[in-house]
Amino acid sequence: SDTLHTVEVGGATPYRIHIGPGLLDDGALLARTLRGRHALIVSDGNVAPLYADRVEAALRAAKPELRIARHVVAAGEAEKTLANFGGVIDALAALGATRDACVFALGGGVTGDMAGFAAACWMRSIDCVQLPTTLLAMVDSSVGGKTAVDIPQGKNLVGAFHPPRAVIADTAALRTLPPRELRAGLAEVIKYGAIVDADFLHWLDAHCDALLAGDDAALAEAIARSCAHKAAITERDPFEHGERALLNLGHTFGHAIEAEQGYADGLNHGEAVAVGMLLAARLSATLGLASWGDAEALRALLLRFGLPVDIPDGLAPEALLARMRLDKKAQASGLRFILWNGPGAAKVVADVDEAAVLAV
Ligand code: NAD
Ligand code: ZN
Repeated sequence: SDTLHTVEVGGATPYRIHIGPGLLDDGALLARTLRGRHALIVSDGNVAPLYADRVEAALRAAKPELRIARHVVAAGEAEKTLANFGGVIDALAALGATRDACVFALGGGVTGDMAGFAAACWMRSIDCVQLPTTLLAMVDSSVGGKTAVDIPQGKNLVGAFHPPRAVIADTAALRTLPPRELRAGLAEVIKYGAIVDADFLHWLDAHCDALLAGDDAALAEAIARSCAHKAAITERDPFEHGERALLNLGHTFGHAIEAEQGYADGLNHGEAVAVGMLLAARLSATLGLASWGDAEALRALLLRFGLPVDIPDGLAPEALLARMRLDKKAQASGLRFILWNGPGAAKVVADVDEAAVLAV
């Protein structure tokens, strides 16, 4: 049907991404990659009450001999901690999970990153099936194998590369997602169009209303195209020696905004990336790499999707610049940006002139 998609991810440990409405109830699909008798469902306090019973019932029906436990962590980025990672490990120990156990990460990117990292570490790595329930997790964090937790010194500083065994994205789960979280995920979707797929930008423009209304077919196609791009890029550059950095378009500015405003309120990650992409486009135009018309068209698209395009009030350019200098990826070679060459083309540029950055 037009709502079911699969994306094959190659590389050293291939896996499949399944996309479509109702997949969280598909026990045969959920159990397909299971090797052993132990399954731990990790979820957060918002998602578990909505979906964990269904996942557990579907798994039980498909594989009655399975020993299933559930571990629920409080929701939010502030909970992506070593302490809560330890809690997932404790739950695996309590379950008596063996080398062939499987972790099911049911939730957004916070759950996926933390549960994936626990799966990477338990007995030096067990399977993890990602069950993303936010659009951001479906198009970004569940694909590519990066797992991590935060520490007070910074986000994602402790982690591992651990590709999932499978990704199962139930687009119907997006119906309970707050609209603001949906739009945040759409910012990352637009990012794929901006960096590698000009046609996709036109498609997004044409399907804006359907996507914002939660249309299953439109969402499934947007997710599949996004995952295919992320999979192709991470397959060619799994450890971010080159091309994978393009996925950070808008993120140097975005991370600075997130850090400077404090992570508690203000713009969320996708919104900060939306602002960051426009700033990167304007910086690129300033440096003669993109046209001002392209930057303006990107601004119009972001606005159509209900995304912010301006730096929040009260954030001083000098303070943001200071944050960018601290960015872990900027330190080696001066300020490093993903710059834009117009729809579907981007490149990494080191030693970007600070005066040009301040000017935009
Ligand atoms: P999140 O996991 O905090 O989810 C956002 C909110 O939505 C939470 O409150 C959650 O409880 C709620 N929620 C999730 N699914 C829901 C649903 N279906 N219905 C109702 N509520 C729901 O945040 P996120 O935006 O999904 O992920 C952000 C995280 O992802 C960050 O920690 C970031 O570092 C990480 N990330 C990782 C990668 C990677 O490659 N590993 C890439 C991008 C982002
Ligand atoms: Zn991002």
